[in-house]
Amino acid sequence: EVLVVGSANADLVVAADRRPGGGETVLGGDTRVLPGGKGANTAVAAARLGADVALVGAVGDDPHGRLLLDSLRSAGVRTELVRTVDRPTGAAYITVTPDGENSILVSPGANAALRPADIDPAGAKVVAVSMEVPLPTVEHAVTAAAAAGARVVLNLSPVTELAVTTLTTPTTLAGVDLLLVNEHEAALLLGAEDPANIDPAGLLDRGPRSAVVTLGARGALLVTEDGPLEVPAPRVEAVDTTGAGDAFAGALATALATALDTGTEQDHVVELRRAIEWAARVAALSVTRSGAQPSYPTADEVARWSPP
Ligand code: ADP
Repeated sequence: EVLVVGSANADLVVAADRRPGGGETVLGGDTRVLPGGKGANTAVAAARLGADVALVGAVGDDPHGRLLLDSLRSAGVRTELVRTVDRPTGAAYITVTPDGENSILVSPGANAALRPADIDPAGAKVVAVSMEVPLPTVEHAVTAAAAAGARVVLNLSPVTELAVTTLTTPTTLAGVDLLLVNEHEAALLLGAEDPANIDPAGLLDRGPRSAVVTLGARGALLVTEDGPLEVPAPRVEAVDTTGAGDAFAGALATALATALDTGTEQDHVVELRRAIEWAARVAALSVTRSGAQPSYPTADEVARWSPP
């Protein structure tokens, strides 16, 4: 089974000609309310792909919370570990401008109530953790899962300076089997000025057994003890890249759990390369469709899909 620890947010999306400056009011289009949050997205992606998956999370007793629970359940995610708490469901206020640039204000709300004690990794083969929940909860999820013998995938997103200094203490990242970062997160973790000019091998010095740097349309870079390995992304006409990183994370967690299930776990590097090739197909297919969760494919769709 896959245990996902992370956020559930209502995405409140408004298109506008430009984003408002301080003290200014701008009129935009109608509000679209979509299920999101990195934890919920990752769990939905994994469940669509056929994983047995549960989300550890928190929502409020409100319409946004019910929207999220509905979306999780209809994708097949188990929700008995999603607590309903006395705070509003997390929300992401997203302004989309014609240049395609998003600005996002996140109100964590109920996600801030997710505690270390909410996490029990017993029985989980793979534990996938992301960052829109309190840092002590992230740290505990990683160390408890590693101690229980689960494989830990940490998606260090969205990352902050505080997270970098806290998590790079000797113990936490050492419990991570696979660290998943995009170029910006990798640069912050490595203390590099320019994301285009990083030494990815340095990521392993921070403690994880292996790392993946996602490179958007260029694919991903796998970093293991054997050195860096490029995995290209299928070329697609991108319609909406929202949640592509979460689709990638959900697919990776599913592939690792499947390899453990079927006993087909082979050479560590070969296994990871296959998992990343598959995750890149899943994420590429998802960017050809609009939305985050609604864009996530089933394993059958991925198998039948050939990029144009
Ligand atoms: P994030 O969304 O977390 O910033 P990326 O932009 O690196 O992360 O995207 C995550 C993964 O999604 C990439 O490694 C790639 O496999 C896939 N992806 C993203 N954008 C595209 C694209 N335009 N075409 C094909 N694949 C994409």
